[in-house]
Amino acid sequence: MIEIKDLNKIYNENSSQSFQALYNINLHINKGEFVILKGVSGSGKSTLMSIMATLVKPTSGSVEIDGENIVKLPDEHCSLFRVEHLGFVFQSFNLFENLNVFENVSIPLIPLGLKDETIKENVLNALRLANIEHKKEQTINSLSGGEKQRCAIARALVNDPNLILCDEPTANLDKQNSLQFLEIMKNLHKMGKTIVIATHDSLFDDLDFETTLLKMEDGKIVE
Ligand code: ADP
Ligand code: MG
Repeated sequence: MIEIKDLNKIYNENSSQSFQALYNINLHINKGEFVILKGVSGSGKSTLMSIMATLVKPTSGSVEIDGENIVKLPDEHCSLFRVEHLGFVFQSFNLFENLNVFENVSIPLIPLGLKDETIKENVLNALRLANIEHKKEQTINSLSGGEKQRCAIARALVNDPNLILCDEPTANLDKQNSLQFLEIMKNLHKMGKTIVIATHDSLFDDLDFETTLLKMEDGKIVE
């Protein structure tokens, strides 16, 4: 599913602000794996996640997702690659506050030129998976934090991706909503999705199903 080789990321290369955020990362993630990427703030989790999400280009190395080296992908092809392969849940939800839940979740499908009926079907399915269908007509600014996050999850699922990347998904959630997030992820895992969650939330320490724990320290994977 994901094959990362000799990955390095240097921000602001060749300037006095130059900073190496990732050092020689090698990583293999199988289809259907549930991966927890742990590490303190500043250890490089978001950098690695953003590279896998095709949002940031590495300085060197290769990242293959579903057999495609995304490092070589021109920017204009990256957005299509994202729609076809991945769902991404950010720490901040990046929703349109004045649009309703249904509209927000349908946005990733717009470039695909699907029929209205297909869009509706896909959106309702994603809302159901994320347990937010009952709020579909409510605008984002009237939702609680947990509901906003479930809307963001639905948006990440609307294209039925095989790979789901979540960066600090529970950082802004209370305990109850964090547990609900975990339940949604467990369900997706059962459906065979590959899931990578960057987090330092202890909620993910002792899960009752098999996970792969990756630990990051100063830009390196240490175990
Ligand atoms: P984490 O998600 O584990 O907190 P990050 O990947 O966000 O770690 O950051 C790793 C390091 O890279 C940090 O020291 C951070 O300051 C630096 N960094 C992140 N993004 C940038 C950027 N756009 N420009 C320069 N430095 C950055
Ligand atoms: Mg981060």
